[in-house]
Amino acid sequence: MASRDYLFYELTNSICRHCLNKVEAKIIIQQGQVYLLKNCLTHGQEQVLISTDVNYYEKCRQFLKPGDLPKQFNTEIKKGCPFDCGLCPDHEQHSCVSLIEITERCNLTCPICYANSSPMQGRHKSLAEIETMLDLIVANEGQPDVVQLSGGEPTIHPQLFEILDLAKQRPIRHLMLNTNGIKIAQDRELVKKLATYAPGFEIYLQFDTLSPQVWRQLRGIDLSEIKQQALAHLNEFNLSTTLVATVQKGLNTQEIGPLLEFALSQPAVRGITFQPVQVAGRLGQFNPLQHRVTLSEIRTAILEQSALFSSEDLIPVPCHPDAITMGYALKLEEEVIPLTRLFVPEELLATVGNTITFEQIPELKQKIYNLFNTSASVETASETLRSIMCCLPKIDVPNLKYENLFRVIIMQFYDAYNFDVRGVKKSCVHIVQTDGRIIPFDTMNLFYR
Ligand code: SF4
Ligand code: SF4
Repeated sequence: MASRDYLFYELTNSICRHCLNKVEAKIIIQQGQVYLLKNCLTHGQEQVLISTDVNYYEKCRQFLKPGDLPKQFNTEIKKGCPFDCGLCPDHEQHSCVSLIEITERCNLTCPICYANSSPMQGRHKSLAEIETMLDLIVANEGQPDVVQLSGGEPTIHPQLFEILDLAKQRPIRHLMLNTNGIKIAQDRELVKKLATYAPGFEIYLQFDTLSPQVWRQLRGIDLSEIKQQALAHLNEFNLSTTLVATVQKGLNTQEIGPLLEFALSQPAVRGITFQPVQVAGRLGQFNPLQHRVTLSEIRTAILEQSALFSSEDLIPVPCHPDAITMGYALKLEEEVIPLTRLFVPEELLATVGNTITFEQIPELKQKIYNLFNTSASVETASETLRSIMCCLPKIDVPNLKYENLFRVIIMQFYDAYNFDVRGVKKSCVHIVQTDGRIIPFDTMNLFYR
């Protein structure tokens, strides 16, 4: 009797990449890789690679925790997911990161831009509109975890500091500015003033490559010097910064390790986020069939290209395991210590959402005591360090500050190729609208722009 040449593993709903209608999709395992096998009655069958690492894919099934609810939902269920965004009552996760696009304009015209921004595109949002969006986040979240001011390019908004003041007047735990860094590089006084918004304020700096040629391909011009100058200013004022690298297969996949090492070498940089290109908006020369990259390929590249982490350090985030991988390290003066491995998964799952004390991690305790020569008296730990370890047990660590924590995140957004309704319902990165909706990043760029 003939058998299938694959293992039928799970069933889900996806969308057809041609008509964007909802279609049934099998998750299959074939020759050591995981695929979505979609079936559109109009456009036929399509097979999309979603993971190159079956073990890790299966591990994601074990890293689950119940979703956290927002204080309110914003739309009704009428047409079914993903056509009721949002957030509709069927959504499974609150807004961990809320984006406010304060302008549609940008001082770049990147060949790849999910928002299709450029210098003449769209307009700046008014202060009244921005206040409405900030209030909406607070109504949904109470104390929002992370609010990112985004765009377009937010630093070109003429009322940037008034907007920052409005945000700071609200109970937002972490405020971030999502920027390409051009103004940060050009205007030292701007950075000096931005630094006055810390603590609880960070820069999320686009940083894709160390190669002039790759800058030209991804962003249209060589931004090497601009990024170096931007980092010089951020380091000068010790303004906490996360580098964010958009990854395209065959273009900068060989730079993943070097980018991580570079991030570690920058005093103000607290982490790096790798994001596969989402097939949405302006795509330039991007060919989805050749250039899409999966989360698992980036994870493997980190393990192969950098000595910092081993497999046990890069784990699924329990609230959205298929789309977010994280790894933490302690960044000390002369040493970087991988941190995630100190939690065995069983303990991790048992303690998610709780606080575990320093005493419960003997290996870590010994290392820190040796390195810092600290006394055994437990000082008050930094609130920031306690709260920043997304979805992990909060750690009570004396004598360490936020700047000692280094975080690597791989964050994948769904597009019309890898779309999976199971995952999109867990999306925790949401874009706030002026009309009262809060829309997941993934579906926003596919259906709602
Ligand atoms: S993605 Fe979330 S908010 Fe949007 S329709 Fe689905 S469940 Fe509702
Ligand atoms: S990707 Fe970012 S920097 Fe580039 S055009 Fe779009 S908004 Fe501007």
